[in-house]
Amino acid sequence: MAKKSDKDYLKEKGFLSQRQDDYFSMRLHTAGGNVSSDYLRAVADAADSYGEGYAHITSRQGIEIPFVHLDNTEDASNNMNSSGIGPGASGKKIRAVVACQGNRVCKRGLIDCQDICEKIDEEYFAEPVPYKFKIAVTGCPASCLKVQENDFGIMGFVEPVFVGENCIMCRLCENACEMSAIKIENETLHLDMNKCVACGRCVEACRKDAMQIKDQGYTIFVGGKVGKRPRMGDELLRTGNEETVFDILEKTLDFYRVNALDGERLGDVIDRCGMGHFREKVE
Ligand code: SF4
Ligand code: SF4
Ligand code: SF4
Repeated sequence: MAKKSDKDYLKEKGFLSQRQDDYFSMRLHTAGGNVSSDYLRAVADAADSYGEGYAHITSRQGIEIPFVHLDNTEDASNNMNSSGIGPGASGKKIRAVVACQGNRVCKRGLIDCQDICEKIDEEYFAEPVPYKFKIAVTGCPASCLKVQENDFGIMGFVEPVFVGENCIMCRLCENACEMSAIKIENETLHLDMNKCVACGRCVEACRKDAMQIKDQGYTIFVGGKVGKRPRMGDELLRTGNEETVFDILEKTLDFYRVNALDGERLGDVIDRCGMGHFREKVE
């Protein structure tokens, strides 16, 4: 049976101490916000058996069961393990990856967020790092998963190119563009790439193949965080290659481990060392 003094052990097992003495919130491992019905049934049973009959959905798509008494932590943990559910991460670790439904479900999805999320989670979840490290995958520039608020963010993109000879000036693309990046005046179409966020909606809207895909893939953001000193992530690069995404993630983690002071988030390390230096190391 775990003792109150086994704080690190309890944390490792996903138990976060509550304000009430001897009670813990049991954090469970999730990835990308998708959980099976079996997972949900196991959570419901555990909440009844060890908690107060409810589970808390966290801001990062995680699930916690509050009010697990110290005396029940071991049983609760074993019970979850026997259902194939591991503990969630806290402290100086790579946290559970969050993701939207991406192109498996969402009409606007440009990439398979769940697939990337699963691969990252499998390789990196709960790996030790200088401080917390958060990763998010979002299917398009709508950024429902707020990749700019994460240490490492991946966003789907589709960049358009206008092929004038096919155009019949029907304005479908102009109407589809929420960024006012397309203007048709005097039978001439202007595509302003300074306004374009590469959401690909104009390509989808065009029925004459006059708005085509120039480039597509993943936009990578680094150094974002919220909390007491928020910082928006910097757009690092765009790539059409999934392997490059993993390569950049690996190099970013190497950079972080080598350069971070204890308890420093990636964005602060980038600010201290310089974005130029960071780019040199990872690109
Ligand atoms: S980010 Fe894009 S793909 Fe993901 S849920 Fe939002 S609109 Fe859909
Ligand atoms: S890709 Fe999106 S933002 Fe860019 S021009 Fe097309 S609709 Fe507008
Ligand atoms: S939707 Fe296609 S055909 Fe219509 S104006 Fe735009 S580019 Fe031209």
